[in-house]
Amino acid sequence: MTATKSYYTSWEELEAAIRSCSRCPLHKSRRNPVPGEGPRNAEVMFIGEAPGATEDEMGRPFVGAAGKLLTMALESAGIPRSSVYITNVVKCRPPSNREPRPEEIEACSVFLESQILLLKPRIIVTLGNVAGKKVFELGNLRWSGVTKMRGRLYTLSILGLKVVVIPTIHPAAALYNPSMRDILFNDLKNVKRVLDEISQTLTVASGDELSAPEQGGRKAKSLLDYVKRG
Ligand code: SF4
Repeated sequence: MTATKSYYTSWEELEAAIRSCSRCPLHKSRRNPVPGEGPRNAEVMFIGEAPGATEDEMGRPFVGAAGKLLTMALESAGIPRSSVYITNVVKCRPPSNREPRPEEIEACSVFLESQILLLKPRIIVTLGNVAGKKVFELGNLRWSGVTKMRGRLYTLSILGLKVVVIPTIHPAAALYNPSMRDILFNDLKNVKRVLDEISQTLTVASGDELSAPEQGGRKAKSLLDYVKRG
């Protein structure tokens, strides 16, 4: 948390602020702001770039063609869409679906950061370059582009929280490209593997912390070591 930012400490305040926001010029052309949706105790948070036309019309994230592909990829990986929280870096649609500008991303950042602080996700999945760059900036790690960064997991300290970050491509990039589609589907299977490992480790730890496996006389490091709260 930076000293200059004042974060929202309740979902109700946060969503009300987004719905009435005029902090950047995107409010002038939006039909509906799109705060995000999903359980407020979700373990996994998906972050995309910005709402598109269908999202702007419905006020919900990832409900257009790219959103349908994301839902299919989630289902294929065994992750119910209803179990994850989904939002975007900016909450209002940029005209003609252009990329959000740096000053718009900065103006909207307090909302994304507040969402991360309220949700406390164990895993953040970034969809595409804009989301990857923003989340890595929050985690103080250099972003080298989605092509180089995807396919691996990174443990970042974001706003004081330890979070496993898994970058992947934006589903819009996979809509008409079968090889990109395979990448998206495989990356989300990876998310499921990591989620399962975290859940198993947490179950073991809460049941009997001393029963954690030992390797060579030392406790084996697991994902819990990286994701447990400080
Ligand atoms: S994009 Fe974000 S900062 Fe800009 S008007 Fe919408 S909610 Fe406000």
